[in-house]
Parts: sequence; C-alpha cells; structure tokens
Amino acid sequence: MQKPLRILILEHAAADGQLIEHELRKSDIHYYAKRVETRDALSQEIRESAPDLILSDYSLPLFDAIAAMELAKQLAPLTPFIIVTGSPEEAAFECPKNGVAVDVIREQLARVGPAVKGLLERKRFQEEKERVEEKLRQSEEIFRRIVETAGEGIWIIDPEDKATFVNHRMAEMLGYTVDEMMGRPVFDFMDEEGRAFLRSALARRRQGIAEQYDFRFQRQDGTDLLVIVSATPFFDKDGHYAGALAMITDITDRKHAEQELAAKAEELARSNAELEQFAHIASHDLKEPLRTVASFVQLLARRYQGKLDPNADQYIALVVQGVKRMQEMIQGLLLYSQVGAPRKSGPVACEAEIGRVLANLQLAIEESGAQVVYDPLPTVVVEPQQLCHLFQNLIGNALKFHGAQPPQVRVSAKEKEKEWLFSVRDNGIGIAPQYSDRIFAIFQRLHQKEEYPGTGIGLAICKKIVEGYGGRIWVESEPGKGSVFYFTLPREAAGVAEAEAPSLQRASKRETRETKSTVS
Ligand code: ADP
Repeated sequence: MQKPLRILILEHAAADGQLIEHELRKSDIHYYAKRVETRDALSQEIRESAPDLILSDYSLPLFDAIAAMELAKQLAPLTPFIIVTGSPEEAAFECPKNGVAVDVIREQLARVGPAVKGLLERKRFQEEKERVEEKLRQSEEIFRRIVETAGEGIWIIDPEDKATFVNHRMAEMLGYTVDEMMGRPVFDFMDEEGRAFLRSALARRRQGIAEQYDFRFQRQDGTDLLVIVSATPFFDKDGHYAGALAMITDITDRKHAEQELAAKAEELARSNAELEQFAHIASHDLKEPLRTVASFVQLLARRYQGKLDPNADQYIALVVQGVKRMQEMIQGLLLYSQVGAPRKSGPVACEAEIGRVLANLQLAIEESGAQVVYDPLPTVVVEPQQLCHLFQNLIGNALKFHGAQPPQVRVSAKEKEKEWLFSVRDNGIGIAPQYSDRIFAIFQRLHQKEEYPGTGIGLAICKKIVEGYGGRIWVESEPGKGSVFYFTLPREAAGVAEAEAPSLQRASKRETRETKSTVS
C-alpha cells in the first residue's frame, strides 16, 4: 500500500482545518495531516517531518500566507504549497515564479482534493523528468568518455559538410585543435584529388549509403595522413539527410611498413635473380677454361708420368684431382642455377618417376646390396625432371651414407589437409641434430670426399625445388640410427592430377613395390 501523504495544514481555526480534511477524504486521498498556526511551528514541522504538501489559509491572524509560502520555499523548495483564499480579490497574490503553488477559493473548497491530486501529479512528473534527465546526463557522459578515449578519430558533419563534432584523437591526427576544426568544411583537410573523391562519397551518403574506404587527408604541416574511413549517414525524423558520422583509423605507419616490406621483397627477389644469373654465367663460363686446364693436366700426367721426379708425379695427380672436383662443383652450381621457378606441368605419377630414378641408381643399388621399397604414391603436378632430381638426390644419399648394414630405403606419402607429406627413410649413418639445417645449404657437407663422394649441392637443389612449389623440406635423424627426410608438395596440384591419373586412394590396394639388388 502507498505511504500516506503527509500534509501540513496552516490554519488557525480547527473547524476550517476539519473542513479541508473532509474535502481531502472525499477525493480519496490517503493522507496524514497535522495542523499548525504559527511561523515557528511551521518551520519546525517542515524541518522535522518534511511534509509532502503544505495547505495554508490565506488570512492567518498570527501569520500571513505569502510569508509562510516564502519560508516554505526556503526550507523545502520542492514541496507544493496550496493557499486557500477567502475571495477572488485575495487570490490576486503574487505567486513565486518557480514556486510550486496553487490557490483555491474558499467558496469552492471542493477543489482542494483535485488541486492536491494535480499537484502530486506534477510533482511525480517533475521527479520522473529529473530521473530521466539524470540518466541522459549519465549516458552522455559515458558516450563522451568513449569518444574521447577512443584510439580512432570521430568526425561528424552537418548537411553542409561542416564539422559539428570532432574528438581529440581526430584533431591530434591532423595536427589541429578541436576548436580549430569545428565548423569547418571537411574539404579543408585534403588535396584536390581527395576533394573529388569525397564529393562523390558524400553524394552516396545522401542516398543513405554507408561505406568503408582508404583515404588520404592532409595534416596541418602538409604531410599525408593515410586512414581507413567508416562513414555512415544519418537522417532526421522526416527522412531528410542530417549529416554523416565517420570513424577514422590512422594507417600511415602500417602503410609505410607495407611499402617498405614490398620494396625489400622486390629488392630481395632482384638480388636473388642477379645472384642466380651470376652463378649461371660464372659456372657456364668457367667450364670452358677449366676443361682446357683439365685436358692439359691429363696430357701432362700421361706424357711425363715417371719422367720427372716422384714429387712432380704427386703434384700432377693432385692437380688432376682438384680440377675434377672443381668441374663437379661447377656442374653442380650450374644445375642449381638451372632449377628455376616451377614450370607448368601436367600430372606426374610419383611411382613412375621413382621407377626411372631406381633405374638410374641401379649400379649403386647393386653395389651396396640395398633394398629400396616404396608405398603407394600419389600423382602430383610437378615438372617430371624436377621430381626426378628430388627423388634421385634423396634416394641416392640414402644409398651413399650407409653404415655397416646394407642400405634399406623406404619412400612413403601421407595425405594431409592441404598437402602431401613424403618421407624417404634410411638405416644409414644418420645426422647430428645441430647439422639438420646446414646440410640444405650449397656446398655444405659433413664428410671428406674420400669418405663419401659428393659436392654438397644435392640437398640445396631439393630445397630449391620443394620451396619453389610452396613446400618444405627437413630431416629427422640421430647419428647411427638412420635418417628420415620429409618434404611436402601442395595437394591442389595433386587434386588436379587425380582426375587424369591414378590417385593414392586407387593405388593403395597395390602392394609395396620392392627393388632389391638381387631382383633388379
Ligand atoms: P652430397 O651428397 O653431395 O654431399 P647433399 O647436399 O646431398 O650433398 O648432402 C649434404 C650433406 O648432408 C652430406 O654431405 C651428408 O653429410 C648429409 N646427408 C645427406 N643425406 C644424408 C643421409 N641420408 N644420411 C646421412 N647424411 C646425409
């Protein structure tokens, strides 16, 4: 139940007080009333019991209603004050402008009830209004803080394209103060090209189109401010264009970093191409004089073998060896420089390519008593010659770097989400983990050529081929426990191939192929 209304009645005649109370009851007002007569009693009651409403007789012998109203206004400015006047003449008193007061003529005392109700209604309305205003103030405060602490610039323009709001971040980005930007046309902050673009963009805003675009403003110091703009139009209640709001993100640093990166990548590609060109020309041009040196040294060896002193024979033999080695290395370098970007190719069945590789390696297989097996392998879109190099280098190494046991080599492939994962496993001498990256670099070897022949170019070529197709190559190994070389090739290429050539799924029922020295 609602709390009773606390009414303070200022009235010297108890009977008149009762009459007023009678009217209140008639109007169904749930109240509690107290009657006072003097100024002191009035101020004490206002202070102690904070009445909801004061009802005062106009003519008081001990006091006067206007003075009472002034006093009540001081002590409780929001408490409604009703004066009951004796006649229309009396009612001509001057009601304080902002005071909450009405007057009721005594002959029409029945108006007391509705007047009280009306006042209460007004009071409730006033309180509600204040509550809503407070909420609005709070939410405006939150909005203001968000806008001011935002890392992004915020810019609002009116239908004349003039700034009606800019946050500090926006002004700071452009090197102005907020005051310097307010009211200015947005076109003041860009060059002619920007203006032409923005004119058409604002025409779209007027059609209700929101959009995001890259843009270039001009800072106060004349430098460029590169940004992403998210712009939204807004309309008044009649549907007329009322302006646009833009959220602006500074991407100057990002753009510069991107440009720098692109320039560096271009520079790197250029210097790589130059290096490859150089390696190609150098190795190609070096072949010729080297061939001359080799043939004359061989001639020297044949003609003068045993005719000079024993030291000379040894020196000649060393020169012959050195020249041979240099020829091999130059040949390797030439090959490396020729393995260029992946060339267009049709689908190639890995199994067919391995067959060719094993035929090439037949002698090494026989000599070492090796067993080479391969599981069902997919088709890939890789140039056949490059695929051949890849398998031949890896299988050739597996045969070459064997320990006391005859080599056992297994080639497999697993289907992954986006790629094929190939592996070439052997039971050879293995590689210490600290060398697992180094061995893929040009001319990097872990052994003397007397121990194991080679130039150290094979794995560098494998890496170049695999990476050319967007794959990776690496080794997992332990000295004495064999090695597994892994490499990946993209499956999209394999996917294309599947339609035209046998796939791994279809091949999977076939048995593992075997090539033994005895069988071959
Ligand atoms: P090369 O075989 O001509 O020496 P590679 O580039 O093919 O050159 O190999 C580089 C080095 O990596 C080899 O010298 C060897 O030390 C090591 N290596 C390569 N394959 C194997 C393997 N299967 N087992 C052990 N070591 C290997």
